Amino acid sequence: MNHPKTERTLVVIKPDGVQRTLIGEIIKRLERPGLKLVALKMCLPTEEHIEKHYTLDPEWRRITGEKRIKNAREKGEKLPTEDPLEITAIILEKLKKYMTSGPVVAMVWQGAHSTELVRKIVGGTEPRSSDVGTIRGDYVLDSYIMADTDGRAVRNLIHASGTSEESEKEIKHWFKDNELIDYRLIAEQILYDVNLDGFLE
Ligand code: GDP
Ligand code: MG
Repeated sequence: MNHPKTERTLVVIKPDGVQRTLIGEIIKRLERPGLKLVALKMCLPTEEHIEKHYTLDPEWRRITGEKRIKNAREKGEKLPTEDPLEITAIILEKLKKYMTSGPVVAMVWQGAHSTELVRKIVGGTEPRSSDVGTIRGDYVLDSYIMADTDGRAVRNLIHASGTSEESEKEIKHWFKDNELIDYRLIAEQILYDVNLDGFLE
């Protein structure tokens, strides 16, 4: 098994995150716990690239539809259909429009349990219910009901991979191998060194 400190995860600052001038704030929040930035680029994704990104996981369509149906039941909302795949098909069309509306910033972050840690910092999908202290909870107020009323995707500033398998596939989808940089960060000596020796003169 690879050491947990080698885990890498994909983060994409969505067009609304760029327009809200939150690039620096988002990077700061990810750097803070000790994650290391190993790749970074700004780009204009195509609709094809976005559709592929969201459907890399064959289960994503079903899971996303089910998540939405569960949320609607809890809130007593009526959806146009109860079929998770049909729900996701509608979401995906809106997502493609949203994600190609302007530049995005794609990044790869490395560190122990990075996928889980980044998701915790980013917060839940719907900003209305994501926790205070998370990026989505602190910087945006969107909701499913508002997005559905206006016929658009939920604007939640960031994409972050959901599982470590998703991370690996998504990193390959956004970056070439030679765009990922292997380097040592001095702070890692404090985060990961076994003995913490070599400091005293
Ligand atoms: P994430 O992993 O937390 O980003 O969430 P998902 O992978 O489930 O969904 C991907 C993206 O689709 C979300 O970040 C939202 O921008 C959008 N989205 C997801 N579910 C819905 C929905 O029910 N309605 C709308 N309008 N957008 C959604
Ligand atoms: Mg997801």
